[in-house]
Amino acid sequence: MGSHGVASVTVDETDPRDPKALCDRCGNKGTVVRAERHEPAPLILRYCGACWPAADEELQQRQRDEQKLWQTANREWNEMRRQGSPAAPEPPPLPAPWSVASRSWHDARRFIELITQRANGGMAATPEQLAEIATEIAAKANEMDGPMPPDVQAFIRKHLPPST
Ligand SMILES: [Zn+2]
Repeated sequence: MGSHGVASVTVDETDPRDPKALCDRCGNKGTVVRAERHEPAPLILRYCGACWPAADEELQQRQRDEQKLWQTANREWNEMRRQGSPAAPEPPPLPAPWSVASRSWHDARRFIELITQRANGGMAATPEQLAEIATEIAAKANEMDGPMPPDVQAFIRKHLPPST
């Protein structure tokens, strides 16, 4: 996933909106984001639109931490194996993958930021790709939480192909 280096985040296309659920951060009713850690007993977190930008940061940090813990455990395991340790333990399991389903504009903005930042070291999106992304975002706009932010509007205006 680009500059974040967290390979385990996948996008979950199911609708995360739940008007009855309580936000795991502020406790308010009505959530628009669902994050899930896929384990035998999955951990499911729900967030309201106001909390999601901060919760997203925390979640990414948490995944980096889980990744680091695994790397350390894996190094130790390799070292043990190299030394021919008699009690050959199982390799440490990979960190459980996370997925996020969101109807928050925060994610659209972050995505736009990512693809429009050429200094990222990644490949710049082609005009066709930008048009495709603008089309997708515009098509989803009425499912999103709240009105489209001005910077997203500007992106759409710039890249949305004229309708035929
Ligand atoms: Zn909240």
